[in-house]
Formats: sequence, structure tokens, C-alpha cells
Amino acid sequence: MIVRNPKFVLSAISEKQYPDSNLLEVAFAGRSNVGKSSLINTLLNRKNLARKGSRQGMTRMINFFNIDDEIHFVDLPGYGYASVSKSEMNLWSKVITNYLNVRQQLYLMIMLVDIRHKPSKEDIQMYKWILESGVQHIIVATKSDKVSRAEAQRNMKLIRETLVLPDDTKIYLVSSQNRNGIKELWDAIDSYIVEEEENE
Ligand code: GDP
Repeated sequence: MIVRNPKFVLSAISEKQYPDSNLLEVAFAGRSNVGKSSLINTLLNRKNLARKGSRQGMTRMINFFNIDDEIHFVDLPGYGYASVSKSEMNLWSKVITNYLNVRQQLYLMIMLVDIRHKPSKEDIQMYKWILESGVQHIIVATKSDKVSRAEAQRNMKLIRETLVLPDDTKIYLVSSQNRNGIKELWDAIDSYIVEEEENE
């Protein structure tokens, strides 16, 4: 997809606040600091549409972006910051699971993990929620520029084992810094959009 004019739509917590729109939604989930805002900005060729960094504790909203009136990108709240309280984690869980379970327009989840780290218990939980919701999904490992090729291979194996990914689930390795893997990821997103249009 060639992106021309992506726009921020609104931030929401509850279902009532979600945009009143039939556009299909591609949603992004991952731990705080995994590189989610950077990836959204990179996919959209924008520097600062999704806000980056240092919003710890303020990231519990779901942010919706309108991509050329074709689809919505949905930035789900980052989870698992060490400093957040249990009640805040509970609220995040509710915000995310509610979106996953009620939003009919959601047709593709993109789950991000950092290529340098073993998936956390929150990542495992997130992946379980995705499986339970039955939504189509893509697993993306971020910040590939920070590791050697050999390390990337080792860590992809660790990610695969920790999340217990089926053999046919591919991990897309990307870097927002040098754009490696970005075209392949867009092609994958596009292939789901095309399939969806053919099914309509
Ligand atoms: P978010 O909290 O998941 O939205 O993460 P951000 O996009 O704000 O990124 C967190 C930090 O990681 C920032 O300092 C980014 O500059 C950095 N970062 C994000 N993506 C990459 C990447 O692909 N490569 C490198 N080297 N740094 C990245």
C-alpha cells in the first residue's frame, strides 16, 4: 500500500469511544519500549505521527489512525512497564482484551517483540489473548539493527520456543532504524488486506 495521507483520529479507552467507522483495522501490540511507535511511523513514512518514547504511565489509551480512508492503524497501549502498579496492569489488560474481543473491524493483529529479549510473561499473555480471540496475526521482532545475524537467528528460536509458535508462523524481523524488513512486513499486511477485499 502506498500511504499518502495518514491522520491521527482519536484516543479511546472504552468501546463507546472507538471511531464510528467501518474501516478495517490493523492493530499493533507490544511491551512499552519495544519500538511500536517507531514501527508505525516507519510503516507510514512519518517522523512523528505515533508519539515516541517517555510516555510511561500515560500509554493506556488506544490510538486510532486513518490511513487514506482505506484502513485504520490501531496503536494499543504498551504493557509491562516495571514501574506500573498492579491495578494499572489490570486496567491495561481490560483495555486490550476488550478491544480484541469486541471490535468487529479488527482483522489483523501485529504483535511486536524485541529481538534482543526473551518474550516476557506479558508477551506470552498477549499472544494467548490473540489466539483466544481467533484474529489473524503477524509476529514482528523489532530492532534487528541491534543484533548480529547469528544473534538474530538464536533469538528468533528463543522467541519461537517461548511463545510456542506453530512452525508455519513466520517471525518478521525489522528495523525502524535502517528499514530492513519493512517492505516485507508491508507486503504481508497488504496480502491480508487483499484477501479481505476478495472475501467481501
Ligand atoms: P514504544 O514504547 O514501543 O512506542 O517504543 P518507541 O518506538 O518509542 O521506541 C523505544 C526506543 O527504542 C526509542 O529510543 C527508539 O528510538 C528505539 N527504537 C525503536 N525502534 C528501533 C529500531 O528499529 N532500532 C533501534 N536501534 N532503536 C529503535
